[in-house]
Amino acid sequence: MKQPKIHYTKYIIAPFRGMTSPPFGIFIRKDLQGNQQILEHDLIHWKQYQRMGLIMFYFRYFIQLLIIGYDTMPMEMEARQNESENVKWNYRTKYHNHEKTPNRS
Ligand SMILES: [Zn+2]
Repeated sequence: MKQPKIHYTKYIIAPFRGMTSPPFGIFIRKDLQGNQQILEHDLIHWKQYQRMGLIMFYFRYFIQLLIIGYDTMPMEMEARQNESENVKWNYRTKYHNHEKTPNRS
């Protein structure tokens, strides 16, 4: 597998922390350099790109985003495979609203 180039940059569109942009590589917010969880998440997106090819990677990503939404779309779910079940299913809620307790099992 071709390894991606990792770019650390100040310029990531909020609220994203990292972004996989094939064929250029993975872009991660500079202040999050060394955060293994974010890097692993985006490395899974990179694998998806290797598996699907450039066109299908973007096509499927945006179709899923439009139809299913960021929180539960399969390509994001796959990228969150190292995270807890609660985080997988309640991504935004978990990160942006700490009061809500997810209730799925
Ligand atoms: Zn992702």
